Amino acid sequence: MNELPVCAHCQQQWSYPTTLKCLFRLRCSYCGNKNFFSRGFRYREPIFLLGMMLVNMFLLPMLPISFTYKTCIVLLMLILYIGTLPFGLKLSAEEEPYF
Ligand SMILES: [Zn+2]
Repeated sequence: MNELPVCAHCQQQWSYPTTLKCLFRLRCSYCGNKNFFSRGFRYREPIFLLGMMLVNMFLLPMLPISFTYKTCIVLLMLILYIGTLPFGLKLSAEEEPYF
């Protein structure tokens, strides 16, 4: 779970800041090759989106706090999500089909 990703091409382990930096392009900063999220990792995204939807539609309307605070909570969740993304991230050398 808290393992940092390893480049699928050169097997070099990415450090935490490297992973955050490469998160959107996934280009290895050691060998320059493009990596893809592996299939085993992708299950996280729908779970996260579902969680965000539940919080937005049910939890936040029930809380007696201002819109500003609610926005802060959503932003915080987003930051937490991105901040923990490098842990357990699995890379693959080729794009794997969703199904
Ligand atoms: Zn590499």
